[in-house]
Amino acid sequence: MPGVRTWTSIGLATILLTLQACQSPASLPSPSHSVSEIPETATATQPIVETPTQAPQHPIVLISWDGSRADIIYDLIENGHLPTFKTFIDQGVHAEFAQSIDPPLTAAAHNSISSGSLPSHTGIPSNNYHVTGDDFSWYRVGFNETMDDAEPIWVTASKNGLTTASAFFVGGSPSHKGQVADYTIGFGIQDAYSTHRSVDISPGDTWMDLPTSYNDHLEGQFTIQNIGPVYICVLDMTDDGKVNYDTVILNSQRSGSDPAQTLNKDQWGSLVLLPRSFAGADFLIQEISSEKVVLFQAGVNHNNATPTDMQTAINQKFGFFPAGPDYYALEHGWITERDYITMLDHQAQFMADVTSWMYTTYHPDLLLTWQDPFDSAGHQFLMRSERQFNYSEGTAVEYDGFYKDAARIADQSLETMLSAIDLEKATVFLVGDHGMTLIHTSVYVNTILENAGLLTLDSQNSVIINKSKAFAITSGGAVHIYINLAGREKEGGIVSDDEYPIIQNQIIDLLKDLQDPETGQPVFERVLSHNELAALGLDHPNSGDVFAQANPGYVLDSWRGNDFTFAQSNYYGQHGYDSSIPDMHTIFFAAGAGIVPTESPLPPVRIIDYAPTIAYLLGFQPAGTIDGSIIPFFKQ
Ligand SMILES: [Zn+2]
Repeated sequence: MPGVRTWTSIGLATILLTLQACQSPASLPSPSHSVSEIPETATATQPIVETPTQAPQHPIVLISWDGSRADIIYDLIENGHLPTFKTFIDQGVHAEFAQSIDPPLTAAAHNSISSGSLPSHTGIPSNNYHVTGDDFSWYRVGFNETMDDAEPIWVTASKNGLTTASAFFVGGSPSHKGQVADYTIGFGIQDAYSTHRSVDISPGDTWMDLPTSYNDHLEGQFTIQNIGPVYICVLDMTDDGKVNYDTVILNSQRSGSDPAQTLNKDQWGSLVLLPRSFAGADFLIQEISSEKVVLFQAGVNHNNATPTDMQTAINQKFGFFPAGPDYYALEHGWITERDYITMLDHQAQFMADVTSWMYTTYHPDLLLTWQDPFDSAGHQFLMRSERQFNYSEGTAVEYDGFYKDAARIADQSLETMLSAIDLEKATVFLVGDHGMTLIHTSVYVNTILENAGLLTLDSQNSVIINKSKAFAITSGGAVHIYINLAGREKEGGIVSDDEYPIIQNQIIDLLKDLQDPETGQPVFERVLSHNELAALGLDHPNSGDVFAQANPGYVLDSWRGNDFTFAQSNYYGQHGYDSSIPDMHTIFFAAGAGIVPTESPLPPVRIIDYAPTIAYLLGFQPAGTIDGSIIPFFKQ
């Protein structure tokens, strides 16, 4: 998916706080401890839900606030930065915190939210993971995969005759066959990457319908690969007797008439570039001279929704899917932090507007939607430690300001959505998928395997499969390591059954022994063999032969071919760490019909409890693969 780190990727896919928490692994609970702390998991053979006999009284809307770390959100509420959230919890209930799954990563966690099932059932054990039968070094992206032995609650609700909707929710897009809600809006689809352009301009006379220019207008053009040309005309619109070009007209044709965008420096404009799919891009004009125009071209995206009539209506009413905060552009210096926030604002508001419209137009009994601001801000602006890239006290204050800007955007999105929902009639859940912790150091796990002779690369740093015994696929603070087992892996595998436990133990020892060269502290909080993963609800063939989670501070990286294992991370926040760590805790708030306001917090809940709670409230039996249980408050 798209340009959002959380959705795509590799380097990143996704808040903090005390340095002390990051550096005191001894204070962290052991795996068995962390699991025993959370409520007992219901098994499929137990009666999971007491089904009310009446038809649903109240629609339910669940809004997932990606990366909403519980303590940070509570601080923001307390300090007046989230007024709409505050009003919401004042009229409803809030849990002390919500615990994610392991690993707490966006694709895995959202599939567990929607299904109420652990990765052992969803088969989505990370944002990135390997599937046996694929090329040994190939990985799948969890955002694009359907679940194995679990189903989203909207599917079960629909089977029970309810009208369902999912909007921008992970695991709910028209391409997730068998997982589509009655009304489904996927995340937008990217048709071209963002880029930074310097466009040469020169005198010309090919444009039509131009306003007055006080010096001869200048023309230029560029082509977006696989999309087409964009034409530029530069004008001097100040009648001051000087040559000072100050205005750019952008269009997909050489015409100054609609839909041409007339822009000054530092202004954003939008163009639909592929009329048939209604794909478009935003442009930011950064420099105008008589020789060139420097601009940032955001990714080209189009909406992805079903049914078709709804997609057409979204295109017409709201325009193309906006690119969202572009961390790649920020890290490459193409845009500023302020521009990143502007992109975040644009996309969040688009999603809130579309979701509100969807709710009031189609009247679903159940709607799930997704919002990004806390996550993208957490990844990029969680600067709170001297060990972090470019740290200074001043920059940390500035970055904290950007984080608060993102909170303001989130609050505005919530206000937009709540204005469409009558809380006398509907019940609203505000949830998160995971928290966020600060990072300072990148750890290249494949370099560790390569140095141990377990991974062999060619001159292009591609994996030589028949000379490699193990390969690591990381996502945030978590890694699955797969062993090239004979008889299981494609092309035969090179590790025999007899050698397997030796290699597995060697990898476990390598990770357990890995120390931060600066502090001597262990990098990994826990390192588990595949047969220990049931305790985490992670026992699925898609999980690695070894699974490990780092201590906060360390982000794991799949990049291969480095001759170094450690480097400073060039961004600031991550997740994927032990879900019992407070930094990984997220939010659960509820208000609306049927909810009696309660001032004191509810006991902790789990993100796998929402689906069975929704089924209970809407009056149907959930899928038998549900691992969560009804939140006790709602059974009163
Ligand atoms: Zn997330």
